[in-house]
Amino acid sequence: MAIGKKGTTKGKTPKAKAKRRNKAGDRYVCDICSLGVTVDEECCCADPCDLFCCDMPMKRRKGGK
Ligand SMILES: [Zn+2]
Repeated sequence: MAIGKKGTTKGKTPKAKAKRRNKAGDRYVCDICSLGVTVDEECCCADPCDLFCCDMPMKRRKGGK
């Protein structure tokens, strides 16, 4: 795959809202089966990781109280 000079990356930034990465203490809940997960340790992945349950991405719960 050769990438020539095809336009410069200027102006348009492909990155929309950057998804935040998981942080220790984050809570995730499965909408389908109500499984709850708390993040103990954050990962070191460059991209945000999604947690899946029931083949669906789990939803992050706000810290709440
Ligand atoms: Zn589930």
